Amino acid sequence: ATPTALLVGTGRGAQLGVLIRGPEVLESTRRVDTVVLDKTGTVTEGRMTLLSVATADGEDEAEVLRLAGALENASEHPIARAVAAEAAERTGELPTPEDFTNVAGLGVQGVVEGHAVLVGRERLLADWALTLPPELERALAEAAAAGRTAVAVAWDGAARGVLVVADAIKPTSARAIAELRQLGLTPMLLTGDNERVAASVARAVGIDEARVIAEVMPSEKADVVARLKAEGRVVAMVGDGVNDAAALATADLGLAMGTGTDVAIEAADLTLVSGDLRAAGDAIRLARRTLSTIK
Ligand code: ADP
Ligand code: MG
Repeated sequence: ATPTALLVGTGRGAQLGVLIRGPEVLESTRRVDTVVLDKTGTVTEGRMTLLSVATADGEDEAEVLRLAGALENASEHPIARAVAAEAAERTGELPTPEDFTNVAGLGVQGVVEGHAVLVGRERLLADWALTLPPELERALAEAAAAGRTAVAVAWDGAARGVLVVADAIKPTSARAIAELRQLGLTPMLLTGDNERVAASVARAVGIDEARVIAEVMPSEKADVVARLKAEGRVVAMVGDGVNDAAALATADLGLAMGTGTDVAIEAADLTLVSGDLRAAGDAIRLARRTLSTIK
């Protein structure tokens, strides 16, 4: 391979909105056959809004929102931002938690005004031996059936409410995924969110339901990529979050959203500057063309 042609390739990449770590990256870009896409912030906007609050019998909706919002105010997660913003809007200034822990892939826990508060997946509550009353089970099931993400709120040993959030799919995602298919690649969806939400996003953007891997803990995302590689696939991973960094580094080719976290960008080989997924297909097409010119 002549270095000049490779450098022209990386320069052309910059024009397409793709930053390429070094000319040698083009070789793995060319060989990719599988593209694993993170859901939140990659296929979707990653900017959530709070749609509704369900309460356990006898609980006050504003209080559920206020304590959940106070705890989430300490988290950077898109769900947390939606909950804290709406809580501040509806209930005024939020108290500062006395204690706060982020439980990756599950939610947040801490102390607010002396109450031990949890916000997150049902599994986080189960870890504290908490179960949901039927009215909250129903709220979670309804949200899942509608393809929406929902988290539970508990404090002082009892589940108090369910918060339903929504995230919009990026307008360019479906077209970007169609282009990946045209290039002969297999798109897959990888997420920590629940199966039904993941399936509904996959359906909307044209990913086969058999190619959806959901409810994956952040620490397991890299294992999923490693397993696909062990099956003989040449894997590109596209992600934006702190959660995705290990998977981006494990993949044959890591692509970070330029709109994502620095940790993801540092772990990646390519950065899609504007966060438009269509640049992934552009980069692969460019790598194929650049390297065929050289040969
Ligand atoms: P994704 O792969 O979609 O980016 P994450 O691994 O960040 O998802 O989170 C997986 C799930 O854990 C979320 O869908 C949510 O149910 C729960 N979760 C994570 N962080 C929070 C948080 N700060 N507040 C509430 N729930 C959370
Ligand atoms: Mg993400």
